[in-house]
Amino acid sequence: MLVLGLETTCDETAASIVRRGGDGPGEILSNVVRAQVEEHAAFGGVVPEIAARAHVEALDGVLSAALSRAGVTLRDLDGVAAAAGPGLVGGVIVGLTAAKALAVVAEKPFIAVNHLEAHALTARLTDGIAFPYLLLLASGGHTQLLAVLGVGRYVRLGTTLDDALGEAFDKVAKMLDLGYPGGPEVERRAETGDPERFAFPRPMFGRAEPNFSLSGLKTAVRLEAERVAPLSAQDVDDLCASFQAAVADVVANRVRVAFRMFCERHGAPSAIVVAGGVAANGQIRRALQRVSSEMGARLVAPPLALCGDNGAMIAWAGAERLALGLEDDLSFAPRPRWPLDLAAAAPGAKA
Ligand code: ATP
Ligand code: MG
Ligand code: FE
Repeated sequence: MLVLGLETTCDETAASIVRRGGDGPGEILSNVVRAQVEEHAAFGGVVPEIAARAHVEALDGVLSAALSRAGVTLRDLDGVAAAAGPGLVGGVIVGLTAAKALAVVAEKPFIAVNHLEAHALTARLTDGIAFPYLLLLASGGHTQLLAVLGVGRYVRLGTTLDDALGEAFDKVAKMLDLGYPGGPEVERRAETGDPERFAFPRPMFGRAEPNFSLSGLKTAVRLEAERVAPLSAQDVDDLCASFQAAVADVVANRVRVAFRMFCERHGAPSAIVVAGGVAANGQIRRALQRVSSEMGARLVAPPLALCGDNGAMIAWAGAERLALGLEDDLSFAPRPRWPLDLAAAAPGAKA
């Protein structure tokens, strides 16, 4: 089946056509992403109103490019999917409304996709892995360790008690004047830095619950930066390298704990999977590779183009849902908050 996916929850306007044959990996026929970097650069972060307007301006072009590169028309599709949240509501409305309109015009099923579920299922698009698997979802707004039991079936093993991993990278970048988005620049500067110059804390190390806490580490970076200031280029490189080394150590430690918890509760996972923008980080990927080898597990990390936000993951999640007969009503409203795991989705539970 062929599904069109639209992504507009944050600062990427994206559209993609994906084919799902059956079990096994999918095929990406086109994957067009227009990132809003210049729009937000001057503000050091995403400005919701600017993002929403930029989505309106970009969506037509991105959509036509996705259809023409795939060589398909609306008639060839089996469904139209859009991310309905979580994210910035102004942007979500743009993609969601467009997808509903396309579905009506083309008389195709409409699928409202949870953006986090789309990150979570990317490993099935790329590698066709079976359920259940252990997922580290590490993006700009979320950091969770989840047992992925099936489509729509997520059990949270751990979460961050404060900042998300990507958010920590972005905040460190901001305090060091490295611009936005911060993750890739921190990683680049870390390459020429000394990871042992600053002995930053490894928060939550050894704790029995696989949770994260990153705000203390972020504060430690700020205090060292203030102590050393004025910062030379080498100081900045060393701060980045020492910060990234601490993050990679913490990630490895937390995933090890989550892996054992997963095995006790659900049996052996088919793989350890990392998803979300932070999955692009080479040092974190290498740390996860070490943990996976140690545990005798397979690591699945998406190719870099599928780590950050994209339309292919939305199209794929739509196809997975459609294959199970799940489609949505045109009255489906945007969900600025939309927790993935069952526990948090229960009435009265905190996300
Ligand atoms: P969410 O998925 O939680 O709604 P989001 O969609 O904004 O948030 P993504 O687009 O998945 O998040 O990821 C963006 C985040 O990934 C940013 O915080 C960015 O700094 C981080 N990131 C991107 N590349 C790297 C890298 N190489 N190293 C570390 N972090 C990175
Ligand atoms: Mg983004
Ligand atoms: Fe995302």
